[in-house]
Amino acid sequence: MIQSSAPSGPNPVPTDIPVSFGPGDRVAVLLPLPVEGAYDYRVPEDVSLAVGDLVEVPLGRRFDIGVVWGPGDGDIDPAKLKDVAHRLDLPHLPRALLSFIDWVADYTIQPKGVVLRMALRSSRGIKPQVPETHLVQAKGLPAGFKLTDARRKVLTALGDQTFVGAALLAKAAGVSTSVVKGLVDAGAINAVLAPPPPLFSPPDPNHPGLTLEPDQRAAADDLAAAVGHGFSVSLLEGVTGSGKTEVYFEPVAAALKMKRQVLVLVPEISLTTQWLDRFRARFGVDPAVWHSDVTGKVRRETWRAVATGDASVVVGARSALFLPFTDLGLIVVDEEHDVGFKQEEGVIYHARDMAVVRAREGDIPIILASATPSLESLLNAQSERYRHVRLEERVGGAVMPEVDLINMVRTPPQKGEWGRSWLAPPLVEAVTETLAAGEQTLLFLNRRGYAPLTLCSTCGHRLHCPSCTAWLVEHRVAKRLQCHHCGFVAPRPEACPSCSKADSFVPCGPGIERVAEEAAARWPEARVVAVASDTLERPSAMAALVEAVERHQIDIIVGTQVLAKGHHFPGLTLVGVVDADLGLSSWDLRAGERTHQLLNQVSGRAGRASKPGRVFLQTHDPKHPVLQALKTADADAFLEAETDGRRSLGMPPFGRLVALILSGMREDAVRQAGQQLARAVPAAADIEVLGPAPAFMALLRGRHRHRFLIKGPRNRLLQPFVRAWLGSVKLPSSVRIQVDVDPYSFY
Ligand code: ADP
Ligand code: ZN
Repeated sequence: MIQSSAPSGPNPVPTDIPVSFGPGDRVAVLLPLPVEGAYDYRVPEDVSLAVGDLVEVPLGRRFDIGVVWGPGDGDIDPAKLKDVAHRLDLPHLPRALLSFIDWVADYTIQPKGVVLRMALRSSRGIKPQVPETHLVQAKGLPAGFKLTDARRKVLTALGDQTFVGAALLAKAAGVSTSVVKGLVDAGAINAVLAPPPPLFSPPDPNHPGLTLEPDQRAAADDLAAAVGHGFSVSLLEGVTGSGKTEVYFEPVAAALKMKRQVLVLVPEISLTTQWLDRFRARFGVDPAVWHSDVTGKVRRETWRAVATGDASVVVGARSALFLPFTDLGLIVVDEEHDVGFKQEEGVIYHARDMAVVRAREGDIPIILASATPSLESLLNAQSERYRHVRLEERVGGAVMPEVDLINMVRTPPQKGEWGRSWLAPPLVEAVTETLAAGEQTLLFLNRRGYAPLTLCSTCGHRLHCPSCTAWLVEHRVAKRLQCHHCGFVAPRPEACPSCSKADSFVPCGPGIERVAEEAAARWPEARVVAVASDTLERPSAMAALVEAVERHQIDIIVGTQVLAKGHHFPGLTLVGVVDADLGLSSWDLRAGERTHQLLNQVSGRAGRASKPGRVFLQTHDPKHPVLQALKTADADAFLEAETDGRRSLGMPPFGRLVALILSGMREDAVRQAGQQLARAVPAAADIEVLGPAPAFMALLRGRHRHRFLIKGPRNRLLQPFVRAWLGSVKLPSSVRIQVDVDPYSFY
């Protein structure tokens, strides 16, 4: 919950320091290690350094790569001062990135070096670019040249193109490299040394794109007008199918026209298959892509291209925020409400909030786009801290789907010959009609596997994970039981480990596999597929599935949120939510808000083209405000109630929270550490410390967990309090402590 009114963190890179340092000067070098401050080094002969330069420095018996953070502070005995080994041949990190790293470290209560590590991770192993051999055909064949069959193949393959390296050309011609080398020696092919071709072609902002509709045009112009005019935050709120992507492409084009770089953050990389097609249609080329599946050389070269400015547009997951953009001109956060932006490991941060800070540090505009903005962003828009740009209509005259609630108490599912049923009669009828009309259905259930719980029908024994406070989930297709928290897998036992009865285990409740089984039994002629994150291991599997749906090779998709977000399927006219109550009962500050966002997204998949869509939500609690908001397509009442509730409890964004999670292999050590911390809570009248208490997930990946929750008023940052508190206690090294500022997960 970053508000522009929040005091900004200390900024230890003063603006009045000398920009460069010469031989003999002391410089402070920050290393990507879990250390708080920078270390001093001396600038050697013949070297000049600037703030942000990447340097290699001696550290103990090894060398490491760090960043010149500023002037050294002079405390160290000059005799002990070591020289910088050398400056790396890479562009320096921009000031905005350095102050951003300072800010993130301060806000998330992490050592600065750990935050720097996120920025430098992919710079390791970057070598200076070496010129490569470019092969082109010589003009005319040299005198006395002997044209063999193999040589002719090479010249034909080469044509008037340029090949980089003999091996590539030899492969294209289907001959050995010695033939290519022979042609170079004979003078029939010219070999020229040149730098490698750039990895990314520049996007063309003037490439003809779609013609925007009048309200889209107005929104696009409004957003584009902010580009080049310093820091601002715009909330782009548009109903599902209103064409938000095409709208924010216009400010992207505006930034490109100013020769500045653009970062588009997306919550899940699975979103980007269709996104990339649209980007290509609008700008003529592919953008740079950044996520955890981009590895090795491509990752390093992308990092370099961002640093040199060769990559003008990057679309990526949250870690792209730490890339070394040399001249960032605009940030877009798509689906800004998505919890996928919260990083829960290592440095715990919210990428949407930090993106706002990055924009402020770079003095550039940022656009937050969503159909269902977070309460935080909405309130900022209402109080005019953020600009508010809205799209109320779907593109191309498509209408919003009609949403119906199915009361599961009044019209419960009917048993079939396949066993229990999870689909109530009105939904069954709607699917039958949709199939008859030759249209597609999405049955949404946010539960992977066959059944969420497996228990012994004789003694009631439940199968749970040995390392987590969690049931084992049966995956019938993969023929195993799985823990969704730690990845533990086991075969389904023949007999109950508790009462020894054979074949006594029964599944309880549905997962997508079970609903898919029912769909296949009910509609044997339909092509049914069950889709979850674990059925789509690679982005290419996602792309293949998206294509199959687009080509109507699938009639019924039974899926989790992995396919229910962001995609545009023109033939999909029916959405059935199998369990709309799932998620509402969990104790989580944002349970209602999140369920509303998710179901709105899912519902938004229906009827996005010329055929109108229908949505059925199966529920046991049709009066629930979230379900009423979805039915009436009017979230205002629900959001108002939600806002009032948070305000009266002093919960975010009306108050601030920090969670501390203690964990360790031994329960008693964790408990004692909690008590030790509890005794050391500093006195502060307006700050409340709840805990320690065993976490809801008391055991996770074999570690016992206890939690604290710290709650304070909105006008007071909690970081100094937490720092002072943690700094006053020395915990045993067997207990790990995680600090989660602005927590989104409470288990
Ligand atoms: P949203 O993100 O708001 O749900 P999208 O950006 O996914 O909407 O757009 C929905 C679909 O409409 C996409 O296939 C997009 O290419 C298309 N679209 C958007 N604007 C236009 C337009 N002006 N003319 C034609 N098609 C458009
Ligand atoms: Zn587990």
